[in-house]
Amino acid sequence: MREPKSLQEAIVYFSNPDNCIAYLAMKRWPNGVVCPICGSESVSAFNANRKTWKCAKHHPKREFSVKVGSLAEDSAIGLDKWLTAIWLLTNCKNGISSCEVASHLKVTQKTAWFMMHRIRLAMQDEAFGKLNGHIEVDETFIGGKARNMHLDKRERRITGTGGKDKTIVFGALERGGKIRTAVLSDRKRAALETAVKTHVEAGSALYSDALKSYDGLAVDYAHQVIDHAEKYVDGQVHTNGLENFWSLLKRGISGTYVSVEPFHLFRYLDEQVFRYNNRKDGDRKTTPAERFSMAVSRLFGKRLTFAELTGKLATTTPF
Ligand SMILES: [Zn+2]
Repeated sequence: MREPKSLQEAIVYFSNPDNCIAYLAMKRWPNGVVCPICGSESVSAFNANRKTWKCAKHHPKREFSVKVGSLAEDSAIGLDKWLTAIWLLTNCKNGISSCEVASHLKVTQKTAWFMMHRIRLAMQDEAFGKLNGHIEVDETFIGGKARNMHLDKRERRITGTGGKDKTIVFGALERGGKIRTAVLSDRKRAALETAVKTHVEAGSALYSDALKSYDGLAVDYAHQVIDHAEKYVDGQVHTNGLENFWSLLKRGISGTYVSVEPFHLFRYLDEQVFRYNNRKDGDRKTTPAERFSMAVSRLFGKRLTFAELTGKLATTTPF
């Protein structure tokens, strides 16, 4: 099977429903189809009419499709549209808005929005070890776009803290490697120390700005500080890698998404972090097809309901 290499090829290829199923089955079960209900490998041959398999030995009356147990399971939207939306979201550098996806796929904006949040869940970084080596840490404020507000409102809102109405995002970047982010409730020492210790291996070289909250970290890390009041770079002591990521993130959020409720911010972080962390494999740049394939493989074994997304049951990103 020849995998599509570009958006155009993907659209043509996935316009055939059988290709969608074949592609998903290959990503889901690279070693042969396994029953998603009981894990048995004795599965009947694919029924091309019903687009299903049967678990021959254990429960032959319950057929299953490739969508069972995936983020698209209860969706009435065709797999061609799901796969195109995944291609767009994994590969558009600044993200893509639900309005654009809606018009490309001919679905409603609400449907596009819901699909995209599910895809972001698939893009969420899976747990791996702590970062180590040379690590930049920093925080930034997202949201609360005062400049677009009416003057009265703006005067009420701008109180000189720089952080009112904004959400604090912490980042840790391993130079030459991956990035982690987390939404924080404040920038006090306890919150920042916990964030650093959660994501960074003790003994690593740590670079931060002169924020007092980072002061206690020299015990566990080779911590060096760049005081931005004086300069931005002192040899290898700087946080420029993270500054670049923040500008990419803000360009996506304010340019493409216009505004993001703080409640949903971690999903946009997951999306941007996915594209950043999967931009290369060693020294080689990854291809759009590879990023697409990675996200597709992670569609399975996850669920996200509309109630969880919009209301009371939602969880925040674990960090
Ligand atoms: Zn079974």
